[in-house]
Amino acid sequence: MNTRIVYFDNNATTAVAPEVREAMMPYFGPLYGNPSSMHAFGGQVAHHLNAAREEVAAFLNAEPDEIIFTSCATESDNTALRGAAAFLGRNTKIITTKVEHPAVLQPCRFLKAQGYEVVELGVDSKGRLDLAELESELRGGGGAIVSVMWANNETGVVFPIEKVAQICKEHGAVLHTDAVQVAGKIPVDVKKVPVDMLAMSGHKFHAPKGIGILYVRRGTKFKPFMLGGHQERGRRAGTENVPYIIGLAKACELARKGMAEEAPRLAAMRDRLEAGLLAACPDTIVNGDRENRLPGTLNLSFKYIEGEAIAYHLSDLGICVSTGSACASGSLDPSHVIRAMGVPFVAVHGSVRFSLSRYNTMDEVDYVLENVPPVIKRLRELSPFGPGQDVTTYE
Ligand SMILES: *Cc1c(COP(=O)(O)O)cnc(C)c1O
Repeated sequence: MNTRIVYFDNNATTAVAPEVREAMMPYFGPLYGNPSSMHAFGGQVAHHLNAAREEVAAFLNAEPDEIIFTSCATESDNTALRGAAAFLGRNTKIITTKVEHPAVLQPCRFLKAQGYEVVELGVDSKGRLDLAELESELRGGGGAIVSVMWANNETGVVFPIEKVAQICKEHGAVLHTDAVQVAGKIPVDVKKVPVDMLAMSGHKFHAPKGIGILYVRRGTKFKPFMLGGHQERGRRAGTENVPYIIGLAKACELARKGMAEEAPRLAAMRDRLEAGLLAACPDTIVNGDRENRLPGTLNLSFKYIEGEAIAYHLSDLGICVSTGSACASGSLDPSHVIRAMGVPFVAVHGSVRFSLSRYNTMDEVDYVLENVPPVIKRLRELSPFGPGQDVTTYE
């Protein structure tokens, strides 16, 4: 096992920021009161909880009462989709995309099995949505819930969510967006972009695993998922995870203050990585729209070889990358996102995602640039496929 770890898998999870860890510590110690208690000992915790809610709201330019703390983005996505569908009833049409995270796709498929009409919009070869298709799906009238992610976790492709929101407004549809991957990367302002519901996850931007945000615009109705106490204004019962909420708020503050400087730094590292790998590895393609992409994400397909083999060999060198989504690993099926883009057969299995964060350095980019090309070359020498054997079938 290599001692040097170069962690380029930040779309799967990120390191907890030291400032976040520090902010959380008192809540594992003296500040253990229950914010719902009548006594002042609990009340002081309630006070800090309110301040945290205000910080998270400021991060999204939302109102504090529009923020619901959940256990993860998967819970936020489930609550939004299943909760809004339960409130609006069976005649509601649900429109999503083929490239969503399983946290959205699976609840949509569950609702389909329950009798809801569910439509999954496709994407083009660059992973882009066709807004005319969305509009024509909404034209029938009747109630609709639209769930379109803000940015894709595998390719980093950013959807035009502002335009999606406009279209949804015109047709009176409820819009939910999985905004997990944009947190700390691009500014999110729910006053400018009128989404109704939005999900984020702490562990994707340097808070711990196990804390999520569900933003719900005032007036948007849904049936709560967790029933019990009156916490979160009755919209998510269960004693608040105070230490993690405090940590999440600190992560939001760091992201809010640091984003303007951080995003171009991530983009510069990613661009150097992309240019270097494309120059050193022939028969390599970039997956996703390079014009509309998160700053720190690079998804490449190395033709004629398997992404899993690449990731495995890089792991021996201490380089952490991923193939498809972490949630789909364990299966050797090519990623549903890459497949939805119609990537040619010889490239669909060779996709590798490099994803960066604030803790990565140019020096690490250079280490990866030095070490990846020889691995690609070696694997290709062993591959039965090669140039001139491009199969025209699309998977
Ligand atoms: C990681 C991720 C999720 C799931 O987040 P959890 O907090 O781990 O449940 C949902 N959507 C996207 C786009 C993600 O990248």
